[in-house]
Amino acid sequence: MTNIITRFAPSPTGNLHIGSARTALINYIVSQQNPSSKFYIRIEDTDKARSKSEFTTNILEGLKWLDIKWDSEIQIQSERVKRHQNVAFDLLKNNFAYKCICSEEKLNSQRKLIKKNKNISKKICTECKNDNEIQKLSDGFVVRIKLPDQGEVNIDDQIQGNIIVKNKELDDFIILRQDMSPTYMLSVVVDDNDLKVNFIIRGDDHLNNTFRQYYIYKYLNWNFPKYAHIPLIHGEDGSKLSKRHGAVDILEFKKNGYLKDAIINNLILLGWSPGNESEIIEINEIIKNFKIYKLSKSSSIFSYKKLNFFNNYYLRKENGLEKFIDFCINNEKLKFFFIKHENKMKTIFQVYKKELNNFNEISDIVNVYFDKDYKYNHKEKFSKDFDILFSDFKKNISNIQRWDKEIIEKTITNFIKEKKIKFPIIGKPIRFLLINSYQGPSISDILVILGKKDSIDRLNQYIEKV
Ligand code: GLU
Repeated sequence: MTNIITRFAPSPTGNLHIGSARTALINYIVSQQNPSSKFYIRIEDTDKARSKSEFTTNILEGLKWLDIKWDSEIQIQSERVKRHQNVAFDLLKNNFAYKCICSEEKLNSQRKLIKKNKNISKKICTECKNDNEIQKLSDGFVVRIKLPDQGEVNIDDQIQGNIIVKNKELDDFIILRQDMSPTYMLSVVVDDNDLKVNFIIRGDDHLNNTFRQYYIYKYLNWNFPKYAHIPLIHGEDGSKLSKRHGAVDILEFKKNGYLKDAIINNLILLGWSPGNESEIIEINEIIKNFKIYKLSKSSSIFSYKKLNFFNNYYLRKENGLEKFIDFCINNEKLKFFFIKHENKMKTIFQVYKKELNNFNEISDIVNVYFDKDYKYNHKEKFSKDFDILFSDFKKNISNIQRWDKEIIEKTITNFIKEKKIKFPIIGKPIRFLLINSYQGPSISDILVILGKKDSIDRLNQYIEKV
């Protein structure tokens, strides 16, 4: 089958989670592997109490940011309720479904019985389907699908392999509630069928549903799609990835200064490998090489450290500066500095990028460079040797005419040679005087970022004790 029709069907009950984004990404990649394939989006908003339009907006914005493109209009599940009801009535008419009036009490006692006797059928309504009076009712019932008790269902999943479930393990699930609203189990099948979806790629938390949904396809004589159930992603402690582990919403990663290429690279390597030495792989190469059946069926661990590694790689690429500017313009704090001091901000980025995990880290770095009332921590004491050298060093730096990294570097090297000293004697305290820290970029880089005037002003704060 080359002409694949696939879809991503999020429920708008929360923001776009990194795990769902992975499902969407894999659907998108598979659809891109053949020009006649299609990829649709459906918003499954039938849970009125939990669905919110702001979540739909967040999900779509997240997909757009990742550059995951879909075909045609977005399908909205709640707009198709009539169609779902008609299919349910059809199933009822053809004796593939039945009306059930069991009280919660009755159902619960059957549930208890099933729990005790592991070998009996899992059907919790045992009588309604055989009661003609109940089947003639015009309201006050739910509609259940009628599943066999004998035999089994066999699903050949592209990732999970061949799985068999006995029919007696499957309950006659509800397809229409008492208020005649369709359930997810019914709507999802009807909507997928109407879109001609022939390959369903979704989280393996839905695997159990597939055995049940199989019967809706069968009873209606619809084509049963191919399936691939993707294992969920876990945090490094082995539990399901959640807020406890760190950011999990796609747009939160964007806000924190991660690049979409890094997110995609990191996500696609969870349970799959292109077989190269390098782990860096961009979307076009992924589309060329990805094979869904090679995806591991055990859950994968999401590592923030690994994401940082990829993000650092992508932000150092040629277009990294452009992306950084884009980030600044959309970040309240950085925008303020960027508009006033564009060149200085660009220099800070160029100097720091080799160590950055994300653009947001620049927010903490900039303070020291833009502090108009900068004071170095006077409690810090430096060596006598430094005191002896300091004023000559300052003089040499002050004499530099063209404030350029190479010239500054040469001036410092010559000074060290001339004085026959080791660099740290002067380098360590100078860095501290300039940025209040012994850690940081090279002295010449710091001097370039600060500019001549600020650099000299900061050095002037030091009074030698000789
Ligand atoms: N709406 C379901 C969810 O968000 C997905 C259904 C499906 O992919 O079949 O979990």
